[in-house]
Amino acid sequence: MKLTDDIKFESPADAGLSNRSIGAEAPAAAFGKTASADFAAGYKCEWEYLMPITFRLDDITPHMDFAKFERFRGLLQNRGIRPLIGVVPDCRDKTLDIDGDGPSFWDYVKELEQDGFTVAMHGFRHVYTTRDGGVFPLNRDSEFAGVPLEKQRQMIGEGKKILEEHGIKTDLFFAPSHTFDKDTLKVLREYGFTKISDGFGKAPFLYEGMKFYPISYSRKRDEDCDGLTTFVVHTNTLSDEGFSYYEDLMKRRECVSYSAFESMEPERMHGYFFRQYVPAALKHAAVQIKSKF
Ligand SMILES: [Zn+2]
Repeated sequence: MKLTDDIKFESPADAGLSNRSIGAEAPAAAFGKTASADFAAGYKCEWEYLMPITFRLDDITPHMDFAKFERFRGLLQNRGIRPLIGVVPDCRDKTLDIDGDGPSFWDYVKELEQDGFTVAMHGFRHVYTTRDGGVFPLNRDSEFAGVPLEKQRQMIGEGKKILEEHGIKTDLFFAPSHTFDKDTLKVLREYGFTKISDGFGKAPFLYEGMKFYPISYSRKRDEDCDGLTTFVVHTNTLSDEGFSYYEDLMKRRECVSYSAFESMEPERMHGYFFRQYVPAALKHAAVQIKSKF
C-alpha cells in the first residue's frame, strides 16, 4: 500500500490502513491535489445496533491489479459475500494502470456478474476536469460536477453504451471522488439509472429522484456503532495490513452481499442541504486543514 502525501482522497472508508482510520484513492488523472483525512476523530456514536456491512470494490479497469482483486475476492468468497463493483467504462486514468497483462477484461466482468457481483458504472473515464464539488462537495475535483449538461449527457450516454456493448446492464452509478451535480442526476435518470452508491446515513434515501445507498465515511465509527453501510475498498492499493484488517472484520461482523443492501426500501431525505451537503463540505474543509499540518 502506498499512502503517500499526494494521495487523492476519494474513498473515506477505504483501508490502506497506514493513514489513521480512513483511506484514499490514487490520484486521478487531471489534478493531483493532496489530501489526507481522519473523519473519525470526535465522532459520537448515535446508534446501538451492529448492523451488517457490505462491500464496494472501486476502480475495476482493464489494467487494475488483478492479483490483489482476486485476493480480496477470495476473502469474500470464503464468507459467501458478493460485493458491488465499480467498472470504469473507458478508463483514461493512468494511475489505475497497474497490471498490463490481465485477463480479457469484459469477459472477466461478465464472469463476476454471473458469480453474483452487482455491477455499477463508475464514472466514464475517471479523469477530473473541474474543481467543482457539486451537490456533495466531499472533494473539489470532478469528472462531472460543473461540466455542461450536454457534455455530461454525452459522457454518461457513451459510458452506458460501452457497458451495454459488452453485455453489462446496470442502473447503479457512482462518481469518481463522490462529485456530481444536479445535471449529473438528471442525465443519469434520462439514461435509466435509478441508484447511486454514495452519501451519508445509515439507510438508503431518496434525493432528486434517485435512490442513494450510503457508504461509510469513517471506518472506526461504522465498525463500532453503525454498520448498515458500504465499506469502500480500493484493492489496487490495499496493503497486507489492509487485507488482514478486512479478513478480521469479516470474522467479527456480519457482512452481507450488496444485493441485500439494494433490496432495502429508501427513506425520504428531508433536509438534504443540512444532512448531506453541509457535512460533506465540512469534511472537505477538515481534510484541507489537516493536510496543512
Ligand atoms: Zn474511482
